[in-house]
Amino acid sequence: MSGASLARAVGALAPPPATHRGATAMKIRIDPERCQGHGRCYDLAPELFSEDDEGYGQVIGDGLVPPDKERAARLAVSNCPERAIEINYPSEIR
Ligand code: SF4
Repeated sequence: MSGASLARAVGALAPPPATHRGATAMKIRIDPERCQGHGRCYDLAPELFSEDDEGYGQVIGDGLVPPDKERAARLAVSNCPERAIEINYPSEIR
């Protein structure tokens, strides 16, 4: 595993920064260049991911993750063998 991949994996498992905790929406995205269609994301978190016609993963809706689904999102990230799922915290919730 490269340093960048390891950093991405560790970052996905870590809680959000303290300044964001409880105040920031989690957003998930699949990198289509990395996804190989293993299907672990939609098997493990079907409320957040689905499959396209060829079995590649896709994010349901706009990718915003409700707080009670964040654990499922992290589970999918940590189980994607291609490290294709990214988590971002794009906007603060006021
Ligand atoms: S687990 Fe990863 S590689 Fe497999 S379908 Fe989901 S995003 Fe794609």
